[in-house]
Amino acid sequence: MRTRMLAAGLLGVLSLLTCARAAENGGTPARPAPLAVPALKSAVLTTRTGLIAEGSAFQTRYWIVDSGVDGPKVLVTGGVHGDEPAGAVAADEIRCWPLVKGRLIFVPRCNVPGLEADTRDVPREPTELADLNRNFPLSGKEDAARGPLAKALWAFVREQRPDYTLDLHEGSDFRTAGSGSVGSSIIRVPHPETAALQDLMLAAVNATVADAEKRFARLRGGGQRLPGAGLRRAARGTRVHRGDHV
Ligand SMILES: [Zn+2]
Repeated sequence: MRTRMLAAGLLGVLSLLTCARAAENGGTPARPAPLAVPALKSAVLTTRTGLIAEGSAFQTRYWIVDSGVDGPKVLVTGGVHGDEPAGAVAADEIRCWPLVKGRLIFVPRCNVPGLEADTRDVPREPTELADLNRNFPLSGKEDAARGPLAKALWAFVREQRPDYTLDLHEGSDFRTAGSGSVGSSIIRVPHPETAALQDLMLAAVNATVADAEKRFARLRGGGQRLPGAGLRRAARGTRVHRGDHV
């Protein structure tokens, strides 16, 4: 996160792809009907795309959507766990939404082999490296990811230096309805700024959920409790768990 590199030069393939064409190229799962989003007047967008871990078994596509207007850089990731495809579908859908300021960076399918095999873990990796979400560096510890896929993703994150991260996962059932799972929850990392953002996100998403028991719940991440847990360490991060029945 400390090293600023010229992201445009190293991994970027300058391109102006339409969302439809980019989805074909990204091997994205079949999409449900898109959500209704507010009618925003979008800035003139520039979209750049490229590959992470190019040529390897972990190769995955990223997109950078730039509004050309000052604003935060937000990284949106999905598919870290291969048996949670909702995050990959959602990230791929969000990258086609209007953008009025700042930059959105998408890695919808972080764990392509896992998504293809419908497994939580990264297939064929040794047990200690199998859960991608445990292979990212810990706050305050050596800034090194573990295993080839986490290393490649982390190098990309370091180049991009996002201000915020949203890591989209999937959970069973609904937290608000009393489930012990994290289904339909928004988990924030402990940071004063993320509390207000979590409130804004909850208000926006819950305005679209009619059933009170299916509304998204507010959760607070445990910071260091999960070893190496997630790209959210990259910045002021938030994990969104979409209930699998929503
Ligand atoms: Zn997950």
